Amino acid sequence: MRIDLHCHTTASDGVLSPEALVRRAAERDVELLAVTDHDTLNGIFEARAAARILNVRLLAGVEISTIWRGKEIHVVGIAVDEHDKGLLGTLAEQQDRRLARSMAIAKRLECLGFEGAWAGAVKRAENAVPGRAHIAKFLVDSGSVRSAQGAFDHLLTAGRPAYVPADWMSLTTAVECITRAGGRAVLAHPERYGLGCQQLQSLISEFAEIGGWGLENSAAREPKLSRCIDLPNKTSGLVRTWGSDFHSPMASIELGVDVKDPVGLEADLLRLG
Ligand code: AMP
Ligand code: MN
Ligand code: MN
Ligand code: MN
Repeated sequence: MRIDLHCHTTASDGVLSPEALVRRAAERDVELLAVTDHDTLNGIFEARAAARILNVRLLAGVEISTIWRGKEIHVVGIAVDEHDKGLLGTLAEQQDRRLARSMAIAKRLECLGFEGAWAGAVKRAENAVPGRAHIAKFLVDSGSVRSAQGAFDHLLTAGRPAYVPADWMSLTTAVECITRAGGRAVLAHPERYGLGCQQLQSLISEFAEIGGWGLENSAAREPKLSRCIDLPNKTSGLVRTWGSDFHSPMASIELGVDVKDPVGLEADLLRLG
């Protein structure tokens, strides 16, 4: 079956509106979809309306940025109650942090000579809170860098001149507020944190201990890491989930992941959809 439990819309740094994203999911025969924008549930209302019309099973989701041992770790929350006051309050605080950080990044860029960085990011974010992806887009559009990846590599990543660290919430806070809102907490794209096998295993076991439910299946892209987390005894009982992290139809990653054997998922999540 084809599912997707991790993707983005214009409510954060995705390119498609929630409605257009759900339409794309329907066209591509995605049977179960979770919309998981960065630190916001703002896209869910529109996505729900589209999902009803287009007959797509939709779960409300969110991708929360957290800090664990000084590293930025992303937690996807699936099947949360989008009206939960606790979760909405925690996400509002996080969006304040995002706004402050993006403003600080833009200020640095302006000092470095990239004029209009803040106004440019705000414009590209439209109704979303600006993040580094919108700042990168401004840098591409204004001809300062050739690609968004170039903007990250030269300016926006840790160690680069316009990098500002973020004081995201802790891993525990994210797992707790997702779980209290009735959702399942999933460790997103474990291969992308630059962790070695041992550190990754500490993260996985701690994530399970604090109430994490799932582990996103994207390790296949990184054979070295799949060796250390593909065995069931190395994943502390976490359920394997699948998500593309789709942001844009122009990028190489497409919406929808074909899953042969959704063990655990079928028994649990599919019931919620
Ligand atoms: P932020 O949440 O403001 O830290 O921005 C991070 C977002 O930028 C990610 O969710 C990606 O969508 C996007 N991005 C694109 N390229 C990179 C990269 N090389 N490193 C980090 N984020 C990237
Ligand atoms: Mn993103
Ligand atoms: Mn992420
Ligand atoms: Mn994502």
